[in-house]
Amino acid sequence: MRLRFGSSSWISRVLLNVGMLACGVAWATQSGASANAQEYLNGIEWQPPSVVTPGATNATPPSDAVVLFDGKDFSHWKNASNWKIEDGAMVVGRGAITSTDEFGDCQVHIEWSTPTPPKGSGQGRGNSGVFLMGIYELQVLDSFDNATYHDGQASAIYKQTPPMVNAMRKPGEWNTYDILWTAPRFKEDGSLQSPAYMTVLHNGIVTLNHFELKGDTPYSRPPKYTKHSDKGPLMLQDHGDPVRFRNIWVRPLKPVVGNQVRKPFLRNGDKETPIE
Ligand code: MG
Repeated sequence: MRLRFGSSSWISRVLLNVGMLACGVAWATQSGASANAQEYLNGIEWQPPSVVTPGATNATPPSDAVVLFDGKDFSHWKNASNWKIEDGAMVVGRGAITSTDEFGDCQVHIEWSTPTPPKGSGQGRGNSGVFLMGIYELQVLDSFDNATYHDGQASAIYKQTPPMVNAMRKPGEWNTYDILWTAPRFKEDGSLQSPAYMTVLHNGIVTLNHFELKGDTPYSRPPKYTKHSDKGPLMLQDHGDPVRFRNIWVRPLKPVVGNQVRKPFLRNGDKETPIE
């Protein structure tokens, strides 16, 4: 009985303390709310973000995407007469193909699959490439259990950097690349103003995180930048292997626009205090 009394008393004290703590939290919240009467305003008048309707899945083109290939035809591609379409996928034939549309900063979704059963090894196995602006290669290769130089494996910027991880699916399965591309900028005199950057998700896994490109991506010499126009086509490489591509779409990216209509300030009720 004494034990029960003692126990109940202990519980009462705990409950009391919890109650006080709860009061304390409530008070702190009120206090915080009171402090939040001061609001920071940056003085920028933003243009409203345009509304984009997402696709049924994240692989489905959203409402503002330029669909370059939906499984039906090559109407958005040049030089594709030697490529073919099988089961809704394009199959690499002789010669690289380039998109008729051209892009600067953009988001790219592309799905690809390497031949099964796999043939060859190293760079000779399931090799193709996605070239941003027709110049900068994101490598496509069967890198599932296939050793090669690391800055030449799938999801590498060719001869510049390996991917952070190897996120490859088996030959014959479909891989996805979701690419964020920042185009390089050039000055009037042809020199580089700002480099290109690429972020890549390979099968939903980040393999390149805002990687700064050193220039183009040739096999036989160091990378370099050569002034080109603000936009360029997407190019898919012919490296002699019947790699398949499907579901290709691009979203041109526009910068957020805002006007600094006044200096940043703090507002508390009717009182406005400029931030120096
Ligand atoms: Mg390649």
